[in-house]
Amino acid sequence: MNYGERFRVRPGARIVLQEIDPAFKDHYDGHKDAADELEHCRARLGELQEMLYVERKHSLLICLQALDTGGKDGTIQHCLSAMNPQGCRVQAFRQPSAEEAAHDFLWRIHRVAPARGEIVIFNRSHYEDVLVVRVHNLAPREVWSRRYDRINAFEQGCIEHDTHILKFYLHISSDEQLARFKARLEDPAKQWKISEADYAERKRWDDYRAAYEEVFARCSTEQAPWFIIPANHKWFRNLAVARIVVEHLEGLGLRYPKPTVDIARIRREYHAAREATARKS
Ligand code: AMP
Ligand code: MG
Repeated sequence: MNYGERFRVRPGARIVLQEIDPAFKDHYDGHKDAADELEHCRARLGELQEMLYVERKHSLLICLQALDTGGKDGTIQHCLSAMNPQGCRVQAFRQPSAEEAAHDFLWRIHRVAPARGEIVIFNRSHYEDVLVVRVHNLAPREVWSRRYDRINAFEQGCIEHDTHILKFYLHISSDEQLARFKARLEDPAKQWKISEADYAERKRWDDYRAAYEEVFARCSTEQAPWFIIPANHKWFRNLAVARIVVEHLEGLGLRYPKPTVDIARIRREYHAAREATARKS
């Protein structure tokens, strides 16, 4: 099954998140059953990323959005570790700094968007400006409601510059979030992730759901689609994201550039050098 088609939000589709099963795991029994497939995807991702990097024709922007504990960090760790750090970058977006807030909301986004040859993963993104900003009334409705069109226009501009855009919403259930909060409380290695705001944000679950549903309806385009990834099972989430990225890159017809040097002549030079070294020893 093509996961890109399976999880893509069709342009204009009215998604009802509650109707999408966050525990979906396709035909796999569990992590072990999917392990080979996961490894295969990671290996292929590494190869494709190298070709994209050396070809320097396209770039790829991956946006990750989720509610707290949704798994953005885990997904990044999984996908990124398959790639060569030379040519990949993660950009995390927090509450805007004073300087960022003094500019248009896309200012801090555009300057860190990928250049040709690069893959950039956004941990949160420009979509926060119609999500957290909307849910918490950080800007008036007249301001944020105009941003959907601005976002589409911005992404279209990137696309015209050969940037490919894949946007992922990691979909977890409310029960799964509570279980992950518990794990954070009990595991000293995870306690640093706890934020005072987590429980307050959880109370806004329905507001976030409505805000996300509007994002999907207005900003999932043919060329910059949103994907809703069932994310209760971490291994399935990783598999689905990696597979969609691989599927997309496979479609680009990436290839290593032709050598600009005369390989036959260099091969003769190599053999001459080897013979000269052999004569000396
Ligand atoms: P974390 O990803 O856990 O480090 O948290 C980053 C925080 O920054 C989250 O609470 C986001 O909602 C918040 N944030 C990100 N972008 C914006 C934005 N444009 N405006 C306000 N808050 C934001
Ligand atoms: Mg957080």
